[in-house]
Amino acid sequence: MRIDVVSIFPEYLAPLELSLIGKARQDGLLDLNVHDLRDFTTDRHRTVDDTPYGGGAGMVMKPEPWAQALTAIAEVGPKAPGTEAVRKPVLIVPSPAGERFSQAIAHELAEEEQLVFACGRYEGIDERVLEWAAEHFTVRPMSLGDYVLNGGEVAVLAMVEAVGRLLPGVVGNPESLVEESHSDGLLEYPVYTKPSSWRDREVPAVLLSGNHGKIAQWRRHEQYRRTAERRPDLLDVFDAGKLPRADRTAFGELGYDVVDGRLRRRPDA
Ligand code: SAM
Repeated sequence: MRIDVVSIFPEYLAPLELSLIGKARQDGLLDLNVHDLRDFTTDRHRTVDDTPYGGGAGMVMKPEPWAQALTAIAEVGPKAPGTEAVRKPVLIVPSPAGERFSQAIAHELAEEEQLVFACGRYEGIDERVLEWAAEHFTVRPMSLGDYVLNGGEVAVLAMVEAVGRLLPGVVGNPESLVEESHSDGLLEYPVYTKPSSWRDREVPAVLLSGNHGKIAQWRRHEQYRRTAERRPDLLDVFDAGKLPRADRTAFGELGYDVVDGRLRRRPDA
């Protein structure tokens, strides 16, 4: 996969040289390029922002440097020169006004050949850039969550890490991706390591039993308990149609009934 990131603070993306993503780059699994938006300006001051039409506080990112940067990137796709790219690259524009980023979207993006991230600053990027870019890219404004950051770089660090670790070969043991939080619409169960007794706290006995069936059931039920406690919204869309009886009982104890394949919280629970 090829990833291009455009920012006025390219040094903000330095952590992408570290850890698993850094190693994936060294191993040639990920071709990641960071571009300075100011390199695509033409004035002496390398200006990237101007006052907003209609008035109001803050500055807006000028469209032309973005068009120059994105055109240059679109011309150097992941395909060899002379061959047709199968799909348009995806242009991800971090924005608190975007679609909410999720594990499901990370999986979708991990299938792409090229991702381009456009890091906004100030009040954001002139909206016409997104319209213009749709000719060359599949444009996806993307929010990390319902809060406001100073710029898109932190959101890009999170999204590149979430997508990058799904690429084949990046995480040493691909099994570890299977049982993670959000992979099956639930939060992950609690995890423990040695020693089994630590500061008067014991690891749950079932995990020391060697009974793999019981361990798997305990972990599933812990997922239900933790999700009900911390993220009940995830249970609203959880497919409970095929749950075995023991799991329905576990949900029953948490105050949920299964109705038409969906979990319904009992009013008295
Ligand atoms: N005026 C914008 C609004 O209210 O929607 C916020 C601009 S914010 C100060 C500057 C930049 O930070 C945005 O253009 C975007 O790139 C990034 N940003 C801020 N919050 C974000 C979030 N929750 N998710 C993704 N990017 C975000």
